[in-house]
Amino acid sequence: MRYYFIAAIFFMTAFSVITHAATPKKSLPEKKGVESINRATAEAHIGFLASDQLQGREASENGGKIAGDYIISILKQMGLRPLFNDYDQPFDAYRAERQKKGQYQIHPDSIAILKEDVHQKLSMRNILAKIDGKNSNEIIIIGAHYDHLGMDKHLEGDKIYNGADDNASGVSAVLQVARAFLATDVQPERTVIFAFWDGEEKGLLGSRYFTMTYPELNKVKGYLNYDMIGRNKNEQKPKYVVYFYTASKPIFGEWLKKDIETYRLQLEPDYRSWDNPVGGSDNGSFAKAGIPIIWYHTDGHADYHMPGDSARR
Ligand SMILES: [Zn+2]
Repeated sequence: MRYYFIAAIFFMTAFSVITHAATPKKSLPEKKGVESINRATAEAHIGFLASDQLQGREASENGGKIAGDYIISILKQMGLRPLFNDYDQPFDAYRAERQKKGQYQIHPDSIAILKEDVHQKLSMRNILAKIDGKNSNEIIIIGAHYDHLGMDKHLEGDKIYNGADDNASGVSAVLQVARAFLATDVQPERTVIFAFWDGEEKGLLGSRYFTMTYPELNKVKGYLNYDMIGRNKNEQKPKYVVYFYTASKPIFGEWLKKDIETYRLQLEPDYRSWDNPVGGSDNGSFAKAGIPIIWYHTDGHADYHMPGDSARR
């Protein structure tokens, strides 16, 4: 089951990158954190989120809501505090009646125009938790989208887009990184927000809503994105991973190289520094706001956005 193995190694890498950012010296707490990350937990999260019962976790549909409730119950169980009063951040998106084929809009001005005519409305929610840092004026956000494409009842055969790699794998990573932070028993240097975005597949809606409305966005020093970290395109190269990062922050690349050496991680990353990392996933919303990003990824594959992206594959 290489599938989960790679995901688990990738979580460890990320966790050590983040703690390097906070504490330059290697320490026992950091080791405790890394050791709390394991394959069994990855299998449990991905197995549930990508199960047929969740019907592809489409934003605003029942399966998507159950996925959100699951994430909240795990956050509560771990003892993480909500970012706001509650864990969820509700938001609505609107678009014109379907024959006009418009994009979903979240900006109040666009919504006001759309509401003047026949329109669609989706109600969604991001899920947000935090650990307060010693310096609350600096914030790091670690995020993954939890929605996927739902179902297509007209497909012959398998009708469910389970989204195991895209992006149950990323959600599992963020939950495990959160648990690793708690396992260190040390308060992080900076405040860390753990974010689970809704509506990514419908146009990065959740992360766009967050960056549009979060009052403390000017304190956010970096965004780490997990989207599709569970699969390899080429089974002959099990150590291959893709590591996107903002080009003006070369230290993001140096940290990973150092961690691979320190922890003897079985990874051979393709380092892809990116001048303007606005495409592909929720990193785009943050890059557009001028925030440096890292995107952990295990590359595209033939089952991308297909019903074959399931946990059993
Ligand atoms: Zn995705």
